Amino acid sequence: MPKKSGFEQKYIQKALDDNWITTGGPNVNDFERILEKYLENDSYVAALNSGTSAIHLALVLLGVKEGDEVICQSLTFSASANPILYQGAIPIFVDSESETWNICPENLEIAIQDRIRKGKKPKVIIAVHLYGNPYKVDEIHAIAKRYEIPIIEDSAEALGSSYKGKKCGTFGAFGVLSFNGNKIITTSSGGALISNSQLLKEKTVFYATQSKDNAVHYEHSQIGYNYRMSNVCAGIGLGQMKILEENIDSRRGINNFYETIFKDISEIELFQVNNNDCFANYWLSTILVENNPEKNINKENLRIAFENANIECRPLWKPMHLQPIFSGCPYYGNNVARDLFEKGLCLPSGSDLTKNDKNRIKKVITDFIK
Ligand SMILES: *Cc1c(COP(=O)(O)O)cnc(C)c1O
Repeated sequence: MPKKSGFEQKYIQKALDDNWITTGGPNVNDFERILEKYLENDSYVAALNSGTSAIHLALVLLGVKEGDEVICQSLTFSASANPILYQGAIPIFVDSESETWNICPENLEIAIQDRIRKGKKPKVIIAVHLYGNPYKVDEIHAIAKRYEIPIIEDSAEALGSSYKGKKCGTFGAFGVLSFNGNKIITTSSGGALISNSQLLKEKTVFYATQSKDNAVHYEHSQIGYNYRMSNVCAGIGLGQMKILEENIDSRRGINNFYETIFKDISEIELFQVNNNDCFANYWLSTILVENNPEKNINKENLRIAFENANIECRPLWKPMHLQPIFSGCPYYGNNVARDLFEKGLCLPSGSDLTKNDKNRIKKVITDFIK
């Protein structure tokens, strides 16, 4: 359940009072302005109806066409990669490194060189700040720059995270946010595409509103999409922005709570960012569980222990190169993502976890370890 500020209702009411119950509109403009201010760094934000739409439009704007190759981090949610297929392009999956769990610089470069050798330079790189943990921005962007390949920064899980003091979502040619119900703030369903110019923002809105050319009648010379955010949804977003910082504090507090539980349990390692350059929103707290057959400890048994206590706890995202829909797509790596998937769990991390919830969670873990 997403946490509410109490102001959502007021802005939804405003949409009704303004009689603007469609896409675009005053709430959308205000929501974009507040996000631009929050992200700083001369960011331009186009509010859309989902994070998936934002990734799709970024690919469109970067000119990705049928048969083009697009590099994508394998360990991610399928929404990072599906839009590559919408364009008829070919996903090239790259493994994670074990420090941030995100796209691995060495394998990224191997992939780029091998694709070039095979005859095609990848058109775009999609890198993800998974679970709100920044990827190795300097290294990844240096490689991308060397080969002159633009980066789409999938920051869907990382609103509020930053790298060297700069907000995630503002490093790439485009940055992507999601305001789905499970994210750190929500608009019920929604997303945004971040760019670094007013012109790119206008182009994004153009494609997102059916690519209507400047004419009295409906004239279209480009493929259009119905991807703009609704004014009602943006009202929820305006209410939610008031508690973004609070939600980040809660999630980081939950990560500290898990730290105290797991510090004496040798089989379980809590994922934490150990690098002063990176500030994580800890959208989800995640762990790796080592098998200990003597004590019956493994990831699946812990998951079942949570399930039996009626507490939701899920495996990490299953890597894309292991998904049936992407079978046959090239993959470059050393199975780091697969190993993380085999050992990893996402723990309850909601911004509204109560003291009572935390006690229940703690009991499941301590009983399990006994
Ligand atoms: C949620 C998510 C998306 C997609 O966002 P939607 O708003 O659900 O379409 C994309 N990438 C990642 C990593 C996500 O977690």
